[in-house]
Amino acid sequence: MQGKRIQLIYFSMGDSEAKQISMGWKKLIGLGSAAFLFLLLIVFMLLNVFTNAFHNWQVANLSKANSQLKNLLNEMEEKVQNIEQKVAFIEKSDDDLRIFVDLPEINEDIRKLGRGGQAQETYSSYSAITQNGRNEAVEIKKKLDNLSQRMDLAIDSRDEIEKEYNEDLKKLSHTPSIRPIKGGRVSAKFGRRRDPFTNELKPHEGIDITAARGTDVYATADGKVIEVNNSYTPNKSYGKYVTIDHGYGIQTKYAHLSKVLIKQGQPVSRHSIIGKVGSTGRSTGPHLHYEVIEDGEKKDPGYYIVE
Ligand SMILES: [Zn+2]
Repeated sequence: MQGKRIQLIYFSMGDSEAKQISMGWKKLIGLGSAAFLFLLLIVFMLLNVFTNAFHNWQVANLSKANSQLKNLLNEMEEKVQNIEQKVAFIEKSDDDLRIFVDLPEINEDIRKLGRGGQAQETYSSYSAITQNGRNEAVEIKKKLDNLSQRMDLAIDSRDEIEKEYNEDLKKLSHTPSIRPIKGGRVSAKFGRRRDPFTNELKPHEGIDITAARGTDVYATADGKVIEVNNSYTPNKSYGKYVTIDHGYGIQTKYAHLSKVLIKQGQPVSRHSIIGKVGSTGRSTGPHLHYEVIEDGEKKDPGYYIVE
């Protein structure tokens, strides 16, 4: 190949005739290498231009996304504050309801932390965000975690209040609170009084309500009939009577009845008709002898009539 020349035929623009040049191999290789390097340079420059353009486009996009995210975070912060106010309102009414049903109040510090107490999460997995000082999102997450715990505590408390309230209602419905007969006249109060048979001063362990024979006698609270006595001796003791157990250590007794309308073991509600006024047993005329027994002790039934 050395020394040989190569013939190149080419057409230049606007020229109809073919031109011919000849050069040596060495020169041709040198020229080719230069052209290749030049092309490579052009490609690198173009790549650089495109890379820069892409990078700038990316930065512009990220910056736009970043500012949108900031706006979104601000909106979230506002919403969190809004929810915070609502949770505080729920907590306040929870406090009021706890007082209403006589439950102990929830300590303010416990309220602030909610169910589960001090948050276990350290938020360390968001270190890249917090290091950059852009920790608004982490702060919002902390607040949401706290609100979630506070709501959980409020829900627990609500269940507790409901349970307590139902228990209170049950106790209330089992506590004697009405007059055992409608109308009538209290002819003997609780305490000491003169015995109508012997004229002696004796303790009177209930109240007497005088009313016409056959007047309805009502259970004064919910409970269960534990004693029915239908046999009696004239001028002695309670005559025909009924005892109701109301639970919570409270019983009521209805004596001197002319008729008993319930059976032993039967559940009764407040206002259930349990018998009729009479004068059976130690009695001088139709009346109801009504007793309230609390923890085995006879109490003044007057305290148990709230109407
Ligand atoms: Zn009496």
